[in-house]
Amino acid sequence: MSTLEIKDLQVSVSTDDGPKEILKGVTLTIDDGETHAIMGPNGSGKSTLAYSIAGHPKYDITGGSVTLDGEDVLAMSVDERARAGLFLAMQYPVEVPGVSVSNFLRTAKTAIDGEAPKLRTWVKDVNAALEQLNLDPTFGTRSVNEGFSGGEKKRHEIAQLELLDPKVAILDETDSGLDIDALKVVSEGVNRFRAKDGKGVLLITHYTRILRYIQPDRVHVFVDGKVAESGGPELAEELEANGYERFLTASV
Ligand code: ADP
Ligand code: MG
Ligand code: MG
Repeated sequence: MSTLEIKDLQVSVSTDDGPKEILKGVTLTIDDGETHAIMGPNGSGKSTLAYSIAGHPKYDITGGSVTLDGEDVLAMSVDERARAGLFLAMQYPVEVPGVSVSNFLRTAKTAIDGEAPKLRTWVKDVNAALEQLNLDPTFGTRSVNEGFSGGEKKRHEIAQLELLDPKVAILDETDSGLDIDALKVVSEGVNRFRAKDGKGVLLITHYTRILRYIQPDRVHVFVDGKVAESGGPELAEELEANGYERFLTASV
């Protein structure tokens, strides 16, 4: 089971001019096994939503709630959230010089499961994940994200998704900067994940392009820190045809 419930979430960041409200009451529920897309213009607060759910310390939760299968996510530390089954693929993955991809994946897996993975099956699983993502086996020896191309960064995020096997994956612009081949490989990885029983996906994107490969159950248009409209996949088609204009004028 995996139900992520976000209710009236309000989030601020502190700036030189004092606190700035970014999320202004976000409500949405990803029911068991559903994939939801959040689409919105730049600066509408999509990454803030992702980071707030993952527990980034920069963001102050000033109201509302987030629960995963009824558990209070906002009361958990960042690593408790990961152990509870939340996964975030960041829009801009950070470089970790000196830490190899293999070590990083194994450390993350150990932290989440509470025990080290069995070496033989683990090596097999890692190699299979890399191969499915068209990543060279030597990829495991490279420092995390250091000198990675945009496509390699995003494929590495999907390798984590496959190996860490969370309940709910939040993917923040996993499609940005990908050429068409990488987009397909990444989309296939996400589709493999969502084909498993009861997995939830929150797919954050600026463009409708990825939604041709990953069909969402629900689409939410995100404008100025809240959901302006929700609908089925047809809403993405409308956005593809008409852009965000209708929603932007409506919000002024
Ligand atoms: P999106 O991901 O939709 O492009 P973001 O969540 O990155 O939007 O940003 C939403 C708004 O919050 C933007 O106006 C951005 O400038 C502002 N913002 C985000 N983080 C900070 C921060 N740490 N300090 C000041 N403003 C921020
Ligand atoms: Mg942005
Ligand atoms: Mg963003």
